Amino acid sequence: MRSASWPSRARRCNADVRLLDPFSVVLMAALMCAVMSAVLFGARRGFPAEVRGISHWGAALAVQVLSAFCFALRGSLPDLLVLPIANVLFVFGNGLCLMGLQRFYGLARGWLMLGGACGFALAGMLYFLIVSPDYAARVVWMALPMTLINGTMLLLVLRHGRRKLATWFFGSLISINTSLIAIRGILALTHGPAVVDVTRPGVFQGFYLAITALQPALLSVGFLMVAYERMRIILERRSASDPLTGVFNRRGFGEAYAREVARMARMRQRSRSLALLCVDLDYFKRINDRYGHAEGDRVLVSVAQMISAALRETDVLARFGGEEFSVLLPETDLKRALGVAHRIQAMLREACAGDLPSCTASIGVAVQSDPAEGLEPLMSRADAALYRAKENGRDRIEAGRAAA
Ligand code: GH3
Ligand code: MG
Ligand code: MG
Repeated sequence: MRSASWPSRARRCNADVRLLDPFSVVLMAALMCAVMSAVLFGARRGFPAEVRGISHWGAALAVQVLSAFCFALRGSLPDLLVLPIANVLFVFGNGLCLMGLQRFYGLARGWLMLGGACGFALAGMLYFLIVSPDYAARVVWMALPMTLINGTMLLLVLRHGRRKLATWFFGSLISINTSLIAIRGILALTHGPAVVDVTRPGVFQGFYLAITALQPALLSVGFLMVAYERMRIILERRSASDPLTGVFNRRGFGEAYAREVARMARMRQRSRSLALLCVDLDYFKRINDRYGHAEGDRVLVSVAQMISAALRETDVLARFGGEEFSVLLPETDLKRALGVAHRIQAMLREACAGDLPSCTASIGVAVQSDPAEGLEPLMSRADAALYRAKENGRDRIEAGRAAA
């Protein structure tokens, strides 16, 4: 007896396989979307204001729930009513995800594109339901805006996402989703409804239904992972910076110093040295007393910007509080450190000739050439030099003793 050939076996197998029941899948998807929507709306409050777009994703999933319920009403209500609404809601929900991502990356939101995609979906649905009823044509038509929306999301993640595990996970999910939608559209075009109609049994249909059921929840998990990664970076930066001026605080400065000393030790060249400047504004209390605390704050912010402008990219500026700034100058000897201190004073004088209240700075300079010395002793030497600059009349630069 001759056994059936592979293509015919496969075709029969394809025809017999019903991996999932579409109604249950749609209901499952709706439930998952509802849970994830609640999770996203709940999580939104825990994120700093800089992490945007989470409520768009929450709203997107709520819209997907409505869309799924509309699909589930097929059979109870006429297709002519249910299908256009369900499909337009589906496109709208996906579009809201795209807008959430645009907001997340600080880009302009494309309301026009979303409106166009929904209008396009509605027009196609009505045409291929009323004028020329055609299931495969509807699948092809819907694949166009959905591929466009998901493809744009993928491009955004590739272009703006940080190369971290969360981004790879999120990007992979979006690319699987985009490919599946595009493949379904192409299959509908080349093979007609037999392979893509989810109400018929088949391997592709089962696979498509399974992914479609999981996709919204998985995508929002991916988005949440990316959002948590962003929050981690923001909190890390915040914990290392001074809230008024945005430059490093004591913690951030200590970490930068430790990195620099470790680098210095690795180089093992005795000629290598780093320098520390302690910059203290003279009679700053008078500025507060005369112009008010807010104006004093403005001066501190301007001075921080001005010192930053006088430094190299590799130099580190910090404010530990008050009107005192610390500057770390890697690979710098005393001569060059004194040069930087003079440049800071000159720039301050120039700024005071402009719109800043008149103020001067005293600067203490210390140089470290032994990586083992540590930040505290280096600070003490720079502080002692600063104290001498104050004692000797202010608006001066003094160099500290060399380390013992
Ligand atoms: P000296 O030349 O001896 O350094 O005199 P000074 O007035 O600058 O020093 P003093 O330590 O007596 O006063 C520092 C002043 O800096 C007191 C405080 O009002 C002000 N100050 C400290 N932190 C801030 C701040 O965050 N904002 C503002 N506006 N003022 C601050
Ligand atoms: Mg002062
Ligand atoms: Mg001071």
